[in-house]
Amino acid sequence: MADINESDRAAASCGGSRVVLEARDVSKCYLLDEIEVHALRGVDLQVCDGEMLSIIGPSGSGKSTLMHLIGLLDRPSSGSVTVEGEEVSSMEPNQLAAVRNKRIGFVFQSFNLLARTTALANVELPLVYAGVSGVERSRRAREALERVGLGDRLNHLPNQLSGGQQQRVAIARALVTEPSIVLADEPTGNLDSHSGIEVMRILQDLNEQHGITVVLVTHDETVSRHAQRIVELRDGRVVREEVVQKRVMAEDRRIALEAEEQALLEARGSE
Ligand code: ADP
Ligand code: MG
Repeated sequence: MADINESDRAAASCGGSRVVLEARDVSKCYLLDEIEVHALRGVDLQVCDGEMLSIIGPSGSGKSTLMHLIGLLDRPSSGSVTVEGEEVSSMEPNQLAAVRNKRIGFVFQSFNLLARTTALANVELPLVYAGVSGVERSRRAREALERVGLGDRLNHLPNQLSGGQQQRVAIARALVTEPSIVLADEPTGNLDSHSGIEVMRILQDLNEQHGITVVLVTHDETVSRHAQRIVELRDGRVVREEVVQKRVMAEDRRIALEAEEQALLEARGSE
């Protein structure tokens, strides 16, 4: 009986769509030099199928910790995390890894690409782990790179690419296993405004055109407004939840930025 009520509660918050990831009363305590750090203190979070959700909050509020938990990279100290309704704590480590590799793609602030490895080989890597054959690997990696507009940079090394291009390689790497969920932790944190807008455009496109569930961590208010829903953390607690009424569309920002730069150029030209 309790189970039915619980799933009703979850479904209600997702407006009838499926809950793909859920944290329930989750706490995380790190022990560092015998000092306890309470990174999360009783967080409830539901991620709905096909939504784009932002987690916002100041530095140290627990955003990355929460991402690690819902991304199955770490386990909570208490509380429960479920994926598609299945309790994470009851899964064996290899089962957990299998679910993660199959369903979830990660994008990090610092790109995390292998330095002496081409864009193509970086994107192929998750498929190596998945045991996909060489020919198939390179076909799928090329396709993923084309999808993020880097079909002409296959053999470039990370240091031969701009920050924005490196992040697009990282997005291609996250996509190559065809996950249903992409988790992006401060994906625009190290990027200039042009590249940041391009990365947000790609994430919005994955969400809108391909139905991929996107969870985005940011400390930037404007970036957070690219999502449909915002959850705000402070000191390890959820302090605010908002349905975004007027979403920021990256494509609109791109057009506005280009117009601004054009106007600036023209003003300089007529000086
Ligand atoms: P955010 O991503 O919002 O900046 P984090 O989730 O990274 O916040 O960190 C939340 C709190 O937990 C911070 O006080 C941070 O110092 C601490 N913390 C994070 N990871 C660890 C760790 N591995 N060991 C000890 N403390 C940690
Ligand atoms: Mg963080």
